[in-house]
Amino acid sequence: MDAWVAYGKDWQRRLYDAGWCGIHWPREYGGRGASLIQQVLFQEEMARARAPMLINLAGLTMGGPVLIAHGTEAQKRRHLRNILMAEEIWCQGFSEPNAGSDLAALKTRAVLDGDDFVVNGQKVWTSFARYADWCMLLVRTDLEAPKHRGITFLLVSMHSPGVTVRPLRQISGDEDFNEVFFEDVRVPRANVVGEINRGWDIAITTLMHERQTLTFSRQLQSRVALDQLLARVRSGAHRDRLPAVQPVLRQKLAAAYIESQTMKYTALRNLTRALRGDVPGPEGSIEKLFWSEMYQRMLETALEALGPFAQLVKGSPYAVDAGYWAHLFLYSRGRTIAAGSSEIQRNIIAERVLGLPRTRQA
Ligand SMILES: Cc1cc2nc3c(=O)[nH]c(=O)nc-3n(C[C@H](O)[C@H](O)[C@H](O)COP(=O)(O)OP(=O)(O)OC[C@H]3O[C@@H](n4cnc5c(N)ncnc54)[C@H](O)[C@@H]3O)c2cc1C
Repeated sequence: MDAWVAYGKDWQRRLYDAGWCGIHWPREYGGRGASLIQQVLFQEEMARARAPMLINLAGLTMGGPVLIAHGTEAQKRRHLRNILMAEEIWCQGFSEPNAGSDLAALKTRAVLDGDDFVVNGQKVWTSFARYADWCMLLVRTDLEAPKHRGITFLLVSMHSPGVTVRPLRQISGDEDFNEVFFEDVRVPRANVVGEINRGWDIAITTLMHERQTLTFSRQLQSRVALDQLLARVRSGAHRDRLPAVQPVLRQKLAAAYIESQTMKYTALRNLTRALRGDVPGPEGSIEKLFWSEMYQRMLETALEALGPFAQLVKGSPYAVDAGYWAHLFLYSRGRTIAAGSSEIQRNIIAERVLGLPRTRQA
């Protein structure tokens, strides 16, 4: 196991043991039954303290909440506590080579054979699959049904015979992404979440949880990075190389601060809505579009403000802050794709918020 995975598991386990993991989950499954607002306050304090991220992200933000909403009692007892303790890491097996924005076009097949499904197909961009023990897998179980029907949501052990994981290297140099191949993988029927052929509804719940959690946590992450950048610029280190004193750059830094505040209050408005019990609607696309693009703008400003040496990556003796800013910048490029690309968000806003005519599907 890589050292950072072992560290991440240990850190999450310590938090759990001290009662600080999944505090808003029900007590009977390892949480503390805290309110959403308490959970958010806790997240804010963690960000302020620069605490490490929790490693079991897919399990905490999607797998767990989906099981709490739709899982059987046996599934809840089997998985929820293990997710909180990072005893078992989860990944999300939705996207395929020809099913990303058009997720319902997915082709990975699952056929019932006695009490098991037999799964064949391929997923791609599966974050953390290399370290994962469980996968939330969307499979096609009815070829005749319209494409949004005939999909089933399965929990698949990544240790099952027939599962092969191949890492993909990203522009940042990390290997978070993976291709995952399934060859005659047997999955017990008891691992279906919800009903057979009704997995699309479960997938939508999963993505809603992902988006809602992301809006808040991304806002905090952006703020932490901006505070670091402003401190760096104010400190005057490398002043001879810093163009940050230029008026145009000062304006860009101020704009980044304003955008960060806008994001904060948008996230708080969402929180108020969630506390009132409102279901997130298409306006969530406005937030997703905004946080992904403003983060990229902010990191472009960072590289400009910190000078050309900030573009050097880890390993170069001249890299500013050991390549920290170059890494954040490169990593940020994926934000306008993950959890729904900017083009898709703009389509949703145009059609469902502004009421413009639908785009023609290919
Ligand atoms: C950081 C990151 C983490 C990810 N983690 C996971 C994960 O853990 N599990 C998982 O299942 N997936 C994951 N993904 C995959 C992600 O969900 C997909 O990349 C995304 O849905 C886009 O799908 P695609 O890559 O197939 O691109 P495509 O859907 O092929 O799109 C290609 C381009 O065409 C544009 N486009 C497509 N359709 C339209 C349209 N109708 N109108 C206008 N433009 C259009 C898109 O905006 C995009 O620019 C991750 C992606 C990233 C970047």
